[in-house]
Amino acid sequence: MTAERDSFSGYARVRAGTITAVAAGAPPEIAEDEETIDASGCVLMPGLINAHTHLYQVLLRAVWEDLELMPWLKRIYGCARVLTPEHFYAGTLLGCVEAIRSGVTTVCEHNFLNPNPECAFETIRAMQNSGLRAVFARTIMDTGEIVPDCTKEKPEQAFRLIEAILAKHKNAGPLTFMTGPNTPPINTTPDLLREVRRFADANSIGISAHVAESKSVVDAVRREHGRNGVVEFLQQFGIPGKNSIFAHSVHVSSDEIGILKETGSSVSHNPVSNMMLGDGVAPVVEMLRQGVNVALGTDGAASNHSQDLFDTMKAASLLQKVHHQDAGVIKPYEVLKMATIGGAKALGLDALCGTIEVGKRADLILVNIDTVHHQPVNDIFSQIVHCAKASDVETVIVDAEIVMRDRQLTCLDDKKILADAKAANRNLMERVSGLAF
Ligand SMILES: [Zn+2]
Repeated sequence: MTAERDSFSGYARVRAGTITAVAAGAPPEIAEDEETIDASGCVLMPGLINAHTHLYQVLLRAVWEDLELMPWLKRIYGCARVLTPEHFYAGTLLGCVEAIRSGVTTVCEHNFLNPNPECAFETIRAMQNSGLRAVFARTIMDTGEIVPDCTKEKPEQAFRLIEAILAKHKNAGPLTFMTGPNTPPINTTPDLLREVRRFADANSIGISAHVAESKSVVDAVRREHGRNGVVEFLQQFGIPGKNSIFAHSVHVSSDEIGILKETGSSVSHNPVSNMMLGDGVAPVVEMLRQGVNVALGTDGAASNHSQDLFDTMKAASLLQKVHHQDAGVIKPYEVLKMATIGGAKALGLDALCGTIEVGKRADLILVNIDTVHHQPVNDIFSQIVHCAKASDVETVIVDAEIVMRDRQLTCLDDKKILADAKAANRNLMERVSGLAF
């Protein structure tokens, strides 16, 4: 996934966690203490980067369907009244296992329900135990009719909690942090927006936000703030910027795409979630043409309903083709870039991962293409986007640690994680049944 758009038969060498060689042919020599992984029949590619999700939501797969964004969000937010730290741990860990088993090496968890500070700590603990490279975006809500009181926070109080998270996880493995307003303007005040930018800069962290996901959000910004769009609204608070990632960005104007480009903001495109909730089609082609960095996300399983980024790549490609009624409007290589280096750039990790290049950390996957649904291979880039399945992923390496080998997780007990998640789901559903929405 480098500028050369290369695919070739060869090898990669990793020393002390860093890629030290990428070349065609066979390695000239192999030292006695070097481990080799035979990748015959496989594509070695950068691990996929899921730039926007809510991992705990695997517990809420297919619970609330056939709803538009606002009534659906009312239930997702309302659920905070009964969610416990144990639910977050069990759900997040299952979400991580699903991610690993589908070739994801980095996830960005956009956290927005914090009825109790332990929910964030347990989510982070699950991500750390999973072995994934992770970004924890701890966002804030301080207003909103459909937001339960238990998740509304005063900015100062939320910032103290985020500082505690940052202090506890200094130098904690491949884990970084962001903050952000959750869904401006429907659950954030202008005061919060101003303070979020100040807080992010003071702590050198990025900003993640849900932006212009549905028409109803744009209607709210027009009605309540007299602005034409959410990006335009956010600009007055300095929220767009090089370290900002805006999930969805479905209803953004051409001028707003210009703001994204000028400010160096990134977008996480989440096509499956957008289709599931009937949000609309994000102007991805125009963003790419204007030079905006676009990443890919699954979004949470409550609106996807999976964490499979191969699914998402195929959906991203086909959705633009049908929307523009133009089969050539987006190329497979552009989609692959969104799922790899685009995600890395969006999350400030492009010096570490997103391509297979000398000097980067080893975040690598092996995808088996010696299968009936891949052969014969005529265009590897197209076939990874349009033919590959999560179950083709054989081996997953994160920060040079093998977390899955021959489809076996190396340090997680997936049977126990599944049993724990099922128990957490039963408990949560029982508690949800007592809620009125
Ligand atoms: Zn989301």
